[in-house]
Amino acid sequence: MSSKLIFEMSSVGRTGYRFPDIDVPVLPLDKQIKSSLLRKSKPNLPEVSEVDIIRHYSSLSKKNFGVDAGFYPLGSCTMKYNPKINEDVGNFSGFSGIHPLQSEESVQGFLEMLYETTKSLCEITGMKWGTLQPYAGAHGEYTGMKFFKSYFRKKGELNRTKVLVPTSAHGTNPASATIAGFHIEEIQADERGLVSVESLKKHLTDDVAGIMLTNPNTLGLFEKDIIEIAKLVHDAGGLLYYDGANMNAIMGKVRPGDMGFDVIHLNLHKTMSTPHGGGGPGSGPVLVSDRLVDFMPTPDVKKNDDGYYFDYNIPDTMGRVAGFYGNIAVLVRAYAYIITMGSDGLKKASEYAVLNANYLKERLKKTYHLYYDTTCMHEFVLSAKKMKEEYGISALDIAKGLLDHGYHPPTIYFPSIVPESIMIEPTETESKETLDGFVETMLDIYQLAVNDPEKLHEAPLHTAVRRVDEVLAVKQPILKWHAE
Ligand SMILES: *Cc1c(COP(=O)(O)O)cnc(C)c1O
Repeated sequence: MSSKLIFEMSSVGRTGYRFPDIDVPVLPLDKQIKSSLLRKSKPNLPEVSEVDIIRHYSSLSKKNFGVDAGFYPLGSCTMKYNPKINEDVGNFSGFSGIHPLQSEESVQGFLEMLYETTKSLCEITGMKWGTLQPYAGAHGEYTGMKFFKSYFRKKGELNRTKVLVPTSAHGTNPASATIAGFHIEEIQADERGLVSVESLKKHLTDDVAGIMLTNPNTLGLFEKDIIEIAKLVHDAGGLLYYDGANMNAIMGKVRPGDMGFDVIHLNLHKTMSTPHGGGGPGSGPVLVSDRLVDFMPTPDVKKNDDGYYFDYNIPDTMGRVAGFYGNIAVLVRAYAYIITMGSDGLKKASEYAVLNANYLKERLKKTYHLYYDTTCMHEFVLSAKKMKEEYGISALDIAKGLLDHGYHPPTIYFPSIVPESIMIEPTETESKETLDGFVETMLDIYQLAVNDPEKLHEAPLHTAVRRVDEVLAVKQPILKWHAE
């Protein structure tokens, strides 16, 4: 297939459309638009036929790898299949065709969807109430930190400026807390890969606002001491924040609210059926326990005898955290997902996610070094440190090798506490055959590392773009095509 750019295929005068002849008088352009706003010259648009433009977009879509194209075991990102029925529901004109400034009476169904989604998410997480406004996980974390701020301001404890974050945490955690005005103190993981209660105690000084955790943590391990951790933090006057990006591991099994958390964000685009990656629209609802509901962002969705309405009158509110009401299409998909799955379905999804991860882990650990050799939750972390020392093959080489076989590589070099880490999250939507195929490929790559490591340094050999110089790509990115 031609690898020419659409601009290079252009041929003067060629068109892919034909409008009917105009049968009404035409005003000169400068009578329609102020002449100061008119272009001086024509835009440099490609002139191509209809079939060329169809081929152009079809070939672009094939270059783009997604869950619908193949296995995508990107740890921490929950790249699972998103049922297409939820796309259809997201496109219902009753949702997609409404205007944010419409009267409440005219959008009762929309408000009901927001209300019921919030209620369902509270039930799944064990929290009291929440806001659907945040646009992504990191935005949810920031909103959660604003809850911390509002709470301590109201209590007059402005000295609480420190937030504890484990070394394994996702980078957005310390970033969000910092932007919200807190100082970060890192807590080391112990030899189990978990938060150590003993070292936590040393950090619980009277300037602690709280702790940010995810459970299972980013190593895919369940924090077994969470009840004790929660008690210690609360007794020290602090709050607990739950990074809900790993909710896919525990739906219907255990609830952050029951573990003792005060604030949680969810990544609906990860757990609840929105295709993501490439920076597409996300949603990071924030749900809180009883003691924090007074600080809810406005507007809050409420219900009375007359129906549903937006409540702007919350005395201790932190104010808005988003323009209007959040990424509505993502919320609709999540609501459709929850309804179609039901509580049993959600529970099964998490059970299969954990089962699939443990199956892969057991098969791969005979060849690859499993860093924490214990039962995992929805993901696990391998280390290529020994392979690097023995054969000069790094986690990056393995990832590039997978590209040649049509797999999206796992997450590499995160979490950073594991050297040469390879973090694998298969998700619940993959069959045993798919998992087995992936294992076989990983074993082949290992053989290649042992027998012909040079070849692996050159990978990928069969992709549209070969191995890029990552330093040059950062230092001198060429992001635009220039016409001659
Ligand atoms: C993805 C992720 C985040 C951030 O979520 P975004 O929606 O990408 O902002 C935070 N924490 C963990 C553990 C994650 O996996």
